[in-house]
This record gives sequence, C-alpha cells and structure tokens, in this order.
Amino acid sequence: MKLLEERIQTDGRVLGTEVLKVDNFLNHQVDPALMQAMGNEFARLFATEKIDKVLTVESSGIAPAVFAALALNVPMVFARKKQSLTLSGDHYVADVYSFTKQETNHILVDKRFIQPGERLLLIDDFLANGQAVAGMLQIASDAGATVVGAGIVIEKTFQKGRALLDEQGVRVESLARITAFENGQVVFADESPV
Ligand code: 5GP
Repeated sequence: MKLLEERIQTDGRVLGTEVLKVDNFLNHQVDPALMQAMGNEFARLFATEKIDKVLTVESSGIAPAVFAALALNVPMVFARKKQSLTLSGDHYVADVYSFTKQETNHILVDKRFIQPGERLLLIDDFLANGQAVAGMLQIASDAGATVVGAGIVIEKTFQKGRALLDEQGVRVESLARITAFENGQVVFADESPV
C-alpha cells in the first residue's frame, strides 16, 4: 500500500537490523486517516470471504483492527495481554513470546466473544516471528472458530513468521512488506501498485 510505504519512509525509524519504530503514526500516536485507509484496504483484500469478527491483540493491533471491522461492518475483539494468570475457565488463553520485549505474555479472550463456527479475520500491526498470530490461531482453534486469514500492516519478510503461517495454510495479506533494513533504510519487497 503506497500510502503506508511512503509514511514508513518519512516517519519510520529503523532500530538496528530488525526493528522498525512507527510510534508516531501506528502504535503510540495514531493517524486515524491512515488507519481508516488501511482498514478499507483489508476489507477490500478479504471482500470475497464471509467474516463474522475481527480479532487482534492489544494494544497496537487495535487501531488498524477497529477500522477493518468498521469497513467490514462486524465487531472487533482484542485479546488482552497478561503476564501472570489465574485460570478461571472463562477465557481462551495462549502464550505469546514477544520478540520486541523478549518476554512471554498470556493472551486471553473471554469465551463469550468468540462463538464456535464464527469466521475470524486476524489483524496485527507487525508480522515478525509469527508468535502473536500463532497465539490468535490457537485461541480461534480452541473456540472452534475458523480463521479466514491474517491482515498484517507491516510484514518483515526476513523473519520467520510468514513461513510459519504459509506452512499452516493461513492466507496472509500484508500492506507493506519489508525485506531488509540496510544502513538505517527500509527496503520494501516490491513497490505496491495501490
Ligand atoms: P511476532 O509475534 O510476529 O514475532 O511479532 C509481532 C508483534 O511484535 C507485533 O504485535 C508487534 O507488536 C511486535 N513487533 C514485531 N516486530 C516489530 C517491529 O519491528 N516494530 C514494532 N514496533 N513492533 C514489532
């Protein structure tokens, strides 16, 4: 998505060889117009699918996910993160190792908010090693829901996540695909036509 790639070029900051900071438009300060354009694009990409709900993980998935849900006219559910957990049986739970924070969190969704048979679109801000999406896949599976695919704002193709999801047959649609960070610059997989 051209608009997003341009924004990454102007406002993204590369940290080392693996991390991109986008906290001035995506995950701390948020640009609603850009989020809305991205939500519309996710809805367009998955237009042929029947989707009942959008599922994401707090906090940085929420902004793009809510606009995708708005465009699809369905509810959005976000998994909550907890570091420690006393299990009550009311929640679906998965473990997610955070690549940027180097810690494991539990993510949980109240069982009332995903019903068996529902068709879910997963959304996240980044695809790195695929742990966040894998956690959402586990929750969907435990709930007896079907995942129609994963909509990712920024995919880093040089990390393991994409291969992991391809192996599991999960459809992945990414709005920007980054192949490398070179000398503090972002290298995109291809120039997006849209
Ligand atoms: P994964 O679970 O695919 O390994 O990593 C995805 C999660 O880690 C995302 O939800 C995102 O919050 C965080 N993340 C991964 N890579 C980056 C990055 O380069 N920049 C930022 N800001 N977050 C990232």
